[in-house]
Amino acid sequence: MSTGPQIVYIGAPEADASTFEARIRAEIPDIQLFATNDRAEAMHHLADAHGLIAHHFQFDEEMLARAPRLRWIQSLTTGTDAILKLNRLRDDVTVTSTRGMHGPQMSELVFLLMLALLRNFPKMQRNQAAAIWERWPQPLLWGKTVVIVGVGAIANTELAEGAGLRCDNGIWVDEYCRTSDPAVYAAGDCTNHPSLRFGRRVRLESVDNAFEQSKAAALNMLGRPTAHDRVPWFWSDQFDNKMLIVGLTHDHDSQVVRGDPRSRSFSVCYLKGRELQAVEAINHSKDYMAARKLIADRAAMDLARLADSAVALKDAV
Ligand SMILES: Cc1cc2nc3c(=O)[nH]c(=O)nc-3n(C[C@H](O)[C@H](O)[C@H](O)COP(=O)(O)OP(=O)(O)OC[C@H]3O[C@@H](n4cnc5c(N)ncnc54)[C@H](O)[C@@H]3O)c2cc1C
Repeated sequence: MSTGPQIVYIGAPEADASTFEARIRAEIPDIQLFATNDRAEAMHHLADAHGLIAHHFQFDEEMLARAPRLRWIQSLTTGTDAILKLNRLRDDVTVTSTRGMHGPQMSELVFLLMLALLRNFPKMQRNQAAAIWERWPQPLLWGKTVVIVGVGAIANTELAEGAGLRCDNGIWVDEYCRTSDPAVYAAGDCTNHPSLRFGRRVRLESVDNAFEQSKAAALNMLGRPTAHDRVPWFWSDQFDNKMLIVGLTHDHDSQVVRGDPRSRSFSVCYLKGRELQAVEAINHSKDYMAARKLIADRAAMDLARLADSAVALKDAV
């Protein structure tokens, strides 16, 4: 039996913890790994744990209290700012996440495709097919020293906390933008609010959300009950590429690329079963526009038609 560091892995209910455990044991025999999908069961293994791998929402004060030897937390999801706020998180515990600090993030697939575009990968492929050897400088980086700074934002809730409002990764509000004090409303980046469409709480950083949620808050304050129920959307201009994201990518079981990324106009659709959850459209505003309605309507997609970019997204149902 290994005497190396002890790691506890807590998967999501549907994750295959035993497969994960078997693979890690085979590849890194020096660590003692306990993998489970049952958080309650994991709680019994924390006393000697040096590392804890879990989704951000699975961490709480009790868990940290039970793990006095903990040195490392790996969050499997975005939302690590919620972990950083736990009072029992000691300074000598390192928190890492491969998914960014807070969601929603650009998916890895789209990130890689955009990076390939910026490096003129289509030209490389054409050259390869024609057996041409050609080098060209990467115009963005040529002759430059590069520093990459990953900036995340944590909602500054000190004022709200001081006023006694419930805060947990943002100011806690309901769909009517009401805080835990019914006389106080909140809207925008600082709120942790329910997404009715996605059935989970979210803290979004987007102009559209800030606009629309504050409209709903104003109407509610005026006595006109209005639920804030938008499908979230985001935009980002990456040099000469326009990226539009609609929906949330966190919960999908398949993805379909529409169009040819080499054409610089394509989209990636994320599905749960046949239901469209999110679309990331690169220079493809038509798919983005259609997706806003399809996602809101919980439309069941025809997967074969969806994969055929000759069929308009709105008709792929
Ligand atoms: C670099 C960057 C790029 C972005 N790009 C995009 C983008 O491409 N698309 C997109 O949709 N969104 C983008 N965003 C996010 C977008 O800017 C925010 O979602 C939006 O501004 C949120 O609006 P808000 O009113 O909720 O908060 P804010 O715009 O942050 O306004 C909050 C205001 O409250 C003030 N304030 C804070 N505390 C106090 C206090 N105690 N007393 C008084 N005043 C206080 C602040 O000074 C600030 O003026 C970007 C953000 C950044 C930083």
